[in-house]
Amino acid sequence: MTLETKEMICILCPLGCKMRVKEKPDQPGELSVRGQQCKLGVDYAYDEYSNPTRTVTSTVVIHNAPLPRLPVKTSKPIPKELVFPAIDEITRTEVEGPIEIGTVIIKNLLGTDSDVIATRSL
Ligand code: SF4
Repeated sequence: MTLETKEMICILCPLGCKMRVKEKPDQPGELSVRGQQCKLGVDYAYDEYSNPTRTVTSTVVIHNAPLPRLPVKTSKPIPKELVFPAIDEITRTEVEGPIEIGTVIIKNLLGTDSDVIATRSL
């Protein structure tokens, strides 16, 4: 059996190390990681290999405000496969102004335990 090698870029700092990651054939669950310049890259590789997540940033429609859309983001990263359904849910949402920065706009987005919060007052 050939184990897949994944190429990924560590996004934990501006260096953006390009890494090659694959499961060790003789140690299932253990990863061989190459290309990182510090050990944070190894932690990132494990997370990204087994449970990739992303923070989602977007906007929602806001009424009674000087601008038509309010910028928002998830309070913590959500599973990568839920990013597009999350964007659908967020773009369907409308709120009434005024809204303070940090206000929860959607609680527990798609059951992820991550809230959508306003990233500015409007
Ligand atoms: S591996 Fe370390 S040095 Fe490289 S991008 Fe990640 S955090 Fe930065």
